[in-house]
Amino acid sequence: MPGERTRTAIEHEQTYIFQTYPRPDFVLERGEGACLFDTEGQSYLDFAGGIAVNALGHGDAEICKTIAEQSCKLIHVSNLYHTVPGGELAKMLIERSPGLDRVFFCNSGTEGVEGAIKFARKFARERVGEGKTSIVAFEGSFHGRTMGAVALSSREHFRLPFMPVMPGVRFAPLNDIEALQQVMADDVCAVFVEPVQGEGGVNVADQAFLQEVRRLCDHHGALMVLDEIQCGMGRTGTLWAYEQYAVQPDMMVLAKPLAGGLPIGAILARQEVADAIRPGDHGTTFGGGPLITAVAQVVLRRISHPDFLAHVQHVGSYLEEHLNYLTHYYPERIRAIRGRGLMRGIHIRGSAAELRAAGHQVGLLMATAGPDVLRLLPPLIIEQWHVDELINRLRKIL
Ligand SMILES: *Cc1c(COP(=O)(O)O)cnc(C)c1O
Repeated sequence: MPGERTRTAIEHEQTYIFQTYPRPDFVLERGEGACLFDTEGQSYLDFAGGIAVNALGHGDAEICKTIAEQSCKLIHVSNLYHTVPGGELAKMLIERSPGLDRVFFCNSGTEGVEGAIKFARKFARERVGEGKTSIVAFEGSFHGRTMGAVALSSREHFRLPFMPVMPGVRFAPLNDIEALQQVMADDVCAVFVEPVQGEGGVNVADQAFLQEVRRLCDHHGALMVLDEIQCGMGRTGTLWAYEQYAVQPDMMVLAKPLAGGLPIGAILARQEVADAIRPGDHGTTFGGGPLITAVAQVVLRRISHPDFLAHVQHVGSYLEEHLNYLTHYYPERIRAIRGRGLMRGIHIRGSAAELRAAGHQVGLLMATAGPDVLRLLPPLIIEQWHVDELINRLRKIL
């Protein structure tokens, strides 16, 4: 029987909060590295990573120190004024993404996608004129929850209850070059694509496919916009997932892990795109504030270090190898292992939600991606022993 504090916390959530998330019956209170503890003192191995957010794990000393120091200096003054950390972070991002020249900061992934839609439309209107407003996205995509971003997200369940959402979106199957050629036309202002789809089931885009997206964007005068909100920032073993594809995007959207757990979004774009956006065209009250961007500098500096990325590649391969072993032991349960680096999907037979719930019983947190994919998004700081422990616990529940 859980204690009073646990029961009260769950009761509050169930009484006062919109019921948009079915949550398990424990209450997380504290974290350390890749380990979380609940109000009953139970520990959990964190392979959900706050949905690819807690890249440096929980309780990171440098993040805590930066929050403490910067929050005493300045938390917020709005974008009406210059402050130091935002410009420094922008410089760091641009120096690490050749071909992209300017950054717009906002507060979440969906807001970043929404901004990128506006930038693409404005750019097309200035360049070509009216009518170049359509957008191509892919089946299995997830780009967020606002009326523009949700219009680019393929799952009907996210869109249909809220119709009409932003019109003018065409979907094509991922990795189907012929279908892509058919939806592309001169009225398309942008193609939005995740190099590795997260919510849609951890589906990796083929190199030839992304290169064809690039070619068709050039041919039709459309912008290639990469959503690296989940797969970016070292998650796949390179700082940006697109580095593994030999393509150059016109825009890239970042969010989830960039500020180590504090809310942030960022749109990176080529100079020409930024030139189409002038004072008053877009804005945000909180975006790029000094506290968030000071913390993001710590995260970006640490993750973009070659030794850190080598570590992700190393542990990521180790994880892949051991998940593949698991497939041999449980061929009737596991259909496929997908993903890159420390972003992995286990495509199972049966319900991923049930298996995730079984994980809670053995102290293991995982995400899901659709009805039959378990999604692993651990902090990027995990070591081989965390993977060994994951495999032990997966064996118990499989
Ligand atoms: C999470 C996610 C978003 C939306 O980000 P929020 O911060 O939840 O608004 C958009 N695109 C991808 C690929 C994501 O994983």
